[in-house]
Amino acid sequence: MVASAWGAAAKPPLVNYCHESYSTAIKACGAASLLIPTDQDPSDLQNILQRIDGLILGGGVDIHPRRYGEMPLPGLGEVDDLRDRMEISAVHQALKLNLPLLAICRGIQVLNVTLGGSLYQDITRQQPEALLHAPSVDKAVATHTVALTPETCIQRLMGRRRIWVNSQHHQAILKPAPGLRVTGLAPDGIIEAVELPEHRFVMGVQWHPEGTLPNDRYAKKLFQALVQAADARQTKD
Ligand code: MN
Repeated sequence: MVASAWGAAAKPPLVNYCHESYSTAIKACGAASLLIPTDQDPSDLQNILQRIDGLILGGGVDIHPRRYGEMPLPGLGEVDDLRDRMEISAVHQALKLNLPLLAICRGIQVLNVTLGGSLYQDITRQQPEALLHAPSVDKAVATHTVALTPETCIQRLMGRRRIWVNSQHHQAILKPAPGLRVTGLAPDGIIEAVELPEHRFVMGVQWHPEGTLPNDRYAKKLFQALVQAADARQTKD
């Protein structure tokens, strides 16, 4: 703790950052990426989203439970209200713009909450029978399987019914939002993948595909699909 000249604790400066694995994944698919800082006016955010071809909502801290109508329960982690506000606004605007969207880990939760769904604030406390979804292993290590729903975008993309994924989350979708299709389940029934069928490309995964690259072709397929959807949009619009 650092004391300021006034005797009160100094507030540490906020830092916008993104793990390099995300930009490396996008680069590996032949596209360029940029980071959108958290503190945006809605009109500036709209201007930014109008100038890009695809959006990734990445991993991070918990969403404030008030965003899905709940009070904090034991087990809730750190929250970032400013980031919640910016990302919820970004989802609304991205859907209006039909911007291809890949929502990863916290991202799938932001997508679900924005559309009216709810979350487990802490899987272990609310679902004691569940698998360990936040093991102390590197992001590159596959942890559990996900069964993909037949005839969904992600199942067609992967070309198989079951894939191995890493798992670095203590929260997950509890009540899926209206309109959001559940497309992948862990063996314990925890929701691991969703999509919005009426949109060009809106996919959410609870795992971290950027963490298992470059040795996981099923992880790469997700980023390739996002980049292809972004390219197709650029050609058509
Ligand atoms: Mn998991």
